[in-house]
Amino acid sequence: MKHYVITGGAGFIGSHLVRELLASGGCSITCIDDFDPFYSPDIKQLNLREVKNNPLFRLISNDLGKTSGADLCALISEPVDVIIHLAAKAGVRPSIENPLAYQQSNVIGLQNMLDFCRAKKVKQFVFASSSSVYGVNDHFPWKEEEQLMPVSPYAMTKLAGEMLGHVYSKLYDIRFIALRFFTVYGPGQRPDLAIHKFTKAVINGKPITMYGNGSTSRDYTYVGDIIKGVRAAMQYNLTGFEIINIGNNYSVPLKDLISAIEKVTGRDAVIEQYPDQPGDVPKTYADISKATALLGYHPHTRLEDGLKSFYNWFLENRALLNH
Ligand code: NAD
Repeated sequence: MKHYVITGGAGFIGSHLVRELLASGGCSITCIDDFDPFYSPDIKQLNLREVKNNPLFRLISNDLGKTSGADLCALISEPVDVIIHLAAKAGVRPSIENPLAYQQSNVIGLQNMLDFCRAKKVKQFVFASSSSVYGVNDHFPWKEEEQLMPVSPYAMTKLAGEMLGHVYSKLYDIRFIALRFFTVYGPGQRPDLAIHKFTKAVINGKPITMYGNGSTSRDYTYVGDIIKGVRAAMQYNLTGFEIINIGNNYSVPLKDLISAIEKVTGRDAVIEQYPDQPGDVPKTYADISKATALLGYHPHTRLEDGLKSFYNWFLENRALLNH
């Protein structure tokens, strides 16, 4: 029986991972999540509804930015096979307003988890990094070796996290795998992200806020594909430190995304255009050849199908999500 510690397990990506691992069997999970009010904690409760009474699931509601490695050791006495660290303050724009809180959660929080990892002699650590570390860079598609030019405090905390992981992997022989996720979507997607906001607005006949002229583009990756990448990284054992893009290898312009949402919802979008936002990058586009080679990663979900899954989830939980 394996024991995994998953931080941020009540969040969008984390709760998919928790549910899938428990459904596969052969493991118990300790989830650490402080139900950060960045978006409604009720949505996080919904994310955990299926698993919260499972005897193989345990929830610790601590703030990792304020819980030391020693405190974590006192809270978790059983041996741990792999730590999957997804907890973070996410979101580019709010990080510009409150950079210190991002340092606290994302850098100090990671430091505390790595101290816990070292003290518990855990051999494997998977870390959620982000495509935002590439910043403004037009050498598309982005390979892991690109020069990194973050343009937001959030992106900087993710880059710092990769480097902190490198330090611990070298000093303490911890295998550290940083996965650079590219705009993740699907059922449970965070309410601050474009697909969620746009679908909700279109369903409710409200205008969509579009920053820029619609030419910015994103490599949207379906959460089911992301989870396959994370699970492969949990098993990876060839080298001690890796940084790997987990994207879809296809960049969709914002205008095309809006058309696809109109098609899925069967309604026309009313678009209100605003200037580009500071901290946003014009385009993201992943080269995933390293993920394919090291992790056997092959994303297969078409945007249209992934949007349908999101739409169905939204409709099922409409009362809560429209609140
Ligand atoms: P999310 O906000 O839904 O999940 C993060 C969870 O971490 C939340 O439930 C939150 O309560 C928890 N958390 C935050 N700060 C914490 C703290 N100090 N202590 C304990 N728990 C804390 O976000 P998500 O979209 O599921 O993202 C998961 C991870 O993937 C994050 O690290 C994020 O930066 C990264 N990522 C996400 C995307 C994306 O498109 N969703 C893209 C790139 C990287």
